[in-house]
Amino acid sequence: MVGTTDQTLRPFLWRAAKLYPDREIVSRTHEGLSRTTYAAYDRRVARLANALDDAGVSRDARVGTFCWNHTRHFETYFGVPCRGSQLHTINPLLPDHHVQYIVENAADELLFVDPSLVESLESAATDADGAFDAVEQFVVMGSDVPETSLDPVTDYESFLADDETYDWPDLDEERPAGMCYTSGTTGKPKGVEYSQQTMWAHTMGILPEAGLDLRASDVVMPVVPMFHVMAWGLPHAVTAAGGKHVYPGPAPDPADIARLIEDERVTFTAGVPTVWLGLLDYLEENDADLSSLERIAIGGAAAPESLIREYEESYDVQVLHAWGMTETSPVAAAAHLKPGMESWPAEKRDRKRVKQGLVLPGLEFKVMGEEGEIPWNGEDFGELWIRGPWVTTEYFGRPEANETDFVDGWLKTGDVVTVDPEGYIQIVDRAKDVIKSGGEWISSQELENAIMAHDDVTEATVIGVPHEKWQERPVAFVVAREGVGGGPLMADIRDLLAEDYPEWWLPDDVVYVESIPKTATGKFDKKVLRDEYADHEIDDVPEEAAPEEE
Ligand code: AMP
Repeated sequence: MVGTTDQTLRPFLWRAAKLYPDREIVSRTHEGLSRTTYAAYDRRVARLANALDDAGVSRDARVGTFCWNHTRHFETYFGVPCRGSQLHTINPLLPDHHVQYIVENAADELLFVDPSLVESLESAATDADGAFDAVEQFVVMGSDVPETSLDPVTDYESFLADDETYDWPDLDEERPAGMCYTSGTTGKPKGVEYSQQTMWAHTMGILPEAGLDLRASDVVMPVVPMFHVMAWGLPHAVTAAGGKHVYPGPAPDPADIARLIEDERVTFTAGVPTVWLGLLDYLEENDADLSSLERIAIGGAAAPESLIREYEESYDVQVLHAWGMTETSPVAAAAHLKPGMESWPAEKRDRKRVKQGLVLPGLEFKVMGEEGEIPWNGEDFGELWIRGPWVTTEYFGRPEANETDFVDGWLKTGDVVTVDPEGYIQIVDRAKDVIKSGGEWISSQELENAIMAHDDVTEATVIGVPHEKWQERPVAFVVAREGVGGGPLMADIRDLLAEDYPEWWLPDDVVYVESIPKTATGKFDKKVLRDEYADHEIDDVPEEAAPEEE
């Protein structure tokens, strides 16, 4: 038995436009605040689908976006996949050569780009004319086009067709509908494709209480960028619920976030810990009315217990700690309390809420230790393996990674976890050799290879050191050629890296060592360094060393 139709995205918007026509979609944009409704949004989405037809974009195309969180970007979330194409959201904070690789690898036919990101896209473009090989057209998200070498280029408002209706095709649920690249990997970023069905299943997975508990009465502001695994699926799921959307626009700061919560009466918001630590700092110095805010979903990196407690005690806001990956669409676990736990003493309760949580209904996991599956005793640990209707089964065009990262339909997550007797997963380590700073990945291997290219360096390794604001920051350990070292070499190393990497990738500290500890097989033993330098004091990272969004 199967249903009368496939599992596809279009019915979510059809229902919202019919049942909640006046519910609002609000957005901070570079042109000020915009405000629309599902009914009007649905017509704009039809105009976008017609425009893609008129522009000759094939139904099978991948269409890229290089954008912040705003309503025009949200229009692509339904306009592109519901006509049968694949929405590929690209992270503009990545180093140029990663953006270049990602666009080429995905062979995007058309790219939507924010005005404030045009320059970044230009600098990532493959040749002097500002063109990527497969890209046939650029569309700037606004009503005019800034001076640019991107060509051919038009502005979004002129690009939209006039026809406000579209003959939406009945799509096969296996049809590719979305794509994101993950940088949480050694080597080149890996593409993860989403089908109509995986996106449908993820939407249905996060809607109920055991997921993110989204309701028609909610006013939801995804602060998590729309280029991070489709803003954790919120734009689609909030539509499915009939909730009000609030998009915080380009590079929102804590003041923007506080103002939007207050003005739009936001009830639910989501993002990485750094954002919420930043908002707390802001609130210490500034007044804001957070009385509408009920819940914050925090994920992408571990939410500190103090953060969870502070929001609850000072602002009466519940923090829901969630876990997921690009490969899991992304939301796969959330630290909900089980019945009865609400009345536990605060400390005991928070020890549960600080974990990565309970797997969402529909998914299965197991934890593989050295001798097979580990017991759920909160102490033994192993690698988390997961499977389910919104967990990917392969990487795009990467057979070698498929060999190592999947076993019999299970995704090996690379996260090392314990599971307590109540089934709460907790991450205790990471098998992947990468650093996550403010929710964004930094490749330690790329940095160390680049540092080792310096004439005065004989060996180098880079590890992530815990940091109060960014969770982790990179620190380099360098064996200098005899007779050199100290300040000038550190400045040289940072200059060398700055040629290819954004400021926020550069190590905050360079530590000179006689030798780097090695494992029995001669590899750098980062575990030894991580243990030894867990309390390493790094001076405050300058603001510009952080991802812009934070
Ligand atoms: P990404 O694919 O960029 O979403 O990164 C996924 C990875 O981020 C996971 O495999 C974890 O290593 C990490 N991660 C995600 N959520 C959490 C969390 N709540 N706590 C700790 N690490 C997390």
